[in-house]
Amino acid sequence: MEVKNIIVLGRRNAGKSSLVNLLTGQSVSIVSDVAGTTTDPVRKRMEIKGVGPCNIVDTAGIDDEGTVGGMRSERSLKEADFADLALLLFCGNKFGDYERGLANHLKNKAIPFILVHSKEDIAPLDESLRMTLTDEFDCPVMNVSSVNADSADRDLMLGSIAYKLNQEEGSGTLVPKTLAGEGSRVLLVCPIDKGAPSGRLILPQVKTLRSLLDNRAIVTVAQPSELNKIFNEKGESFDLVITDSQAFSEVSAAVPEGIPVGSFSILMARLKGPFSFFLESVSAIDSLKDGDRVLILESCTHRASCDDIGRVKIPAMLKKYSGKDLAFDFVSGLDDIPENSYSLAIQCGGCMATSRQITSRVNSIAEKGIPVTNYGLAIAFVKGLFSNANFKAFLHLIAEE
Ligand code: SF4
Repeated sequence: MEVKNIIVLGRRNAGKSSLVNLLTGQSVSIVSDVAGTTTDPVRKRMEIKGVGPCNIVDTAGIDDEGTVGGMRSERSLKEADFADLALLLFCGNKFGDYERGLANHLKNKAIPFILVHSKEDIAPLDESLRMTLTDEFDCPVMNVSSVNADSADRDLMLGSIAYKLNQEEGSGTLVPKTLAGEGSRVLLVCPIDKGAPSGRLILPQVKTLRSLLDNRAIVTVAQPSELNKIFNEKGESFDLVITDSQAFSEVSAAVPEGIPVGSFSILMARLKGPFSFFLESVSAIDSLKDGDRVLILESCTHRASCDDIGRVKIPAMLKKYSGKDLAFDFVSGLDDIPENSYSLAIQCGGCMATSRQITSRVNSIAEKGIPVTNYGLAIAFVKGLFSNANFKAFLHLIAEE
């Protein structure tokens, strides 16, 4: 399940930790009148009605002093870059250079935010300031007194957060109706190998199935070993085949010409990532040289198996395809990117991450001039799918959207 990040920013002692405690209904963060009590970001997982699981991230004050304080402020800003929503706190009607600078940083990075005037019990928000800020930043300004707030205030705050997040989410669907609409017959190929979790399908498969059912498509699910039975013995016909990328070779050999063939990972990349950049970056595989480093980007901290797609299979495929001596680094979740020079980065399907989290990470790597592609596209490339008519038909259909 995707987990949205909601970051709480503001000066030291602006009431950030009290707001986190109010939202989560717990004493997660240390609350003190001493400015600068929160050092590193503190995360609390909670479920927000209408949104789902979220991390509420309490940060160090953006005006933290000294060398260490500066590093903490930097960390807060970096966390903000991966946020799905920021709550920017100020109090006492003081919206100064720090707040304005931070609001402009969020605006420039296209990170949605809500301005929150805290400590209302001490100094209520000035109406003219509210109107000025609403006009200047085109965003809501809320007021809160975490000390006096009751459950209605908490519900109002959470409702505003949910509204803003859902507004930003957009209406993208994993499987567009142009690819498979009402009555379309779709085959999903899901290998149950050593890498498959016990007793369940993986999230990209489940999400694709759900999206197809929403489209009122008619879906068949099978393992690669059944392909011969389906196409040759039963002569079944489909409008679309979606496979796990690892089975691309078997599937493309078995599926008759004229049926678009794609992968779960590529559908996820289209929905969540900068897809055209992923697509144009994939050919960088052909430029890999001996000694080059490749960065594998995982968007969660799953337990890697001996057959893990990102840690084992993709490195092996790239080495075999290129014939080069390549080095690989792996980062999970929001881990820092190592300061190495990379010739290529490959992003996972990102089933556990939001589009904003993936796009922010990919953009920060692309800014260094590093091409970034996606697991499914990289596998299709090394398996020669880019010259396969069925795969090209799939790419054409999703690019039309
Ligand atoms: S590594 Fe990526 S694709 Fe795999 S489970 Fe985690 S978020 Fe999903």
